[in-house]
Amino acid sequence: MVEIKTDEALAAMREAGRVVGRALAAVQEAAAVGVTLQELDGVARDVLAGAGATSPFLGYRPSFAPIPFPAVICASVNDAVVHGIPDGYRLRDGDLVSIDCGAVLDGWAGDAAISFTVGTPDPADLALIETTRQALDAGIAAAVVGNRVGDISHAIGGVARAARRGLPADLGGHGIGRRMHEEPHVANTGRPRRGFRLQHGLVLAIEPMLMAGGRDDYRVDPDGWTLRTTDGSRAAHIEHTVAITEDGPRILTLP
Ligand code: MG
Ligand code: MG
Repeated sequence: MVEIKTDEALAAMREAGRVVGRALAAVQEAAAVGVTLQELDGVARDVLAGAGATSPFLGYRPSFAPIPFPAVICASVNDAVVHGIPDGYRLRDGDLVSIDCGAVLDGWAGDAAISFTVGTPDPADLALIETTRQALDAGIAAAVVGNRVGDISHAIGGVARAARRGLPADLGGHGIGRRMHEEPHVANTGRPRRGFRLQHGLVLAIEPMLMAGGRDDYRVDPDGWTLRTTDGSRAAHIEHTVAITEDGPRILTLP
């Protein structure tokens, strides 16, 4: 079932989203050559705790997962696409890092992700990140009253395919509210004018994840969580929680 939020709920979700945006900004600020992924997780934990928010990631255990997720961020480096577990890995010069973070505040969830480079960037990585950002922007621009979920999927996929990037076949965005993952699923590629009709009060996490090599398949690490490209190419992932409103799409996860 798709839950439509009241304006009061949208305001509360903006506050939850703001915590996510602040946590991501703090993590990017702290990320540097030599810093460990666990240290970045600690930065996000401090922001959440300071805001009185909890993490919907910590302890999360969907059916596919062998262990509950042990952190408040996903940290996916280079060929890792999404769901990387923050560990003792020390960031190296030129790494491409994707950080996904969620927060629950006053019972409402926010979910967002950023991708950035550490140290001296490879221009190819900057181009991949830029295309991913354009795909997200196109998806958000399509998140208007009267469109359908398929219009968002089509917009994202169009940008990715024009740049010959891969899209993990079955992964995408989702409705969000009191729970981090709600209906509807928001595929990152698809046909326009299909799916749930967008209306004021629908809130979606829109999250293109692009793989540089152009393949759509991926593999799962032995940890059961981390998804990686099969060709070793790098991936980027950018996400916002977005409310569909009569006044246009409202991004809830800006700092
Ligand atoms: Mg996320
Ligand atoms: Mg999400």
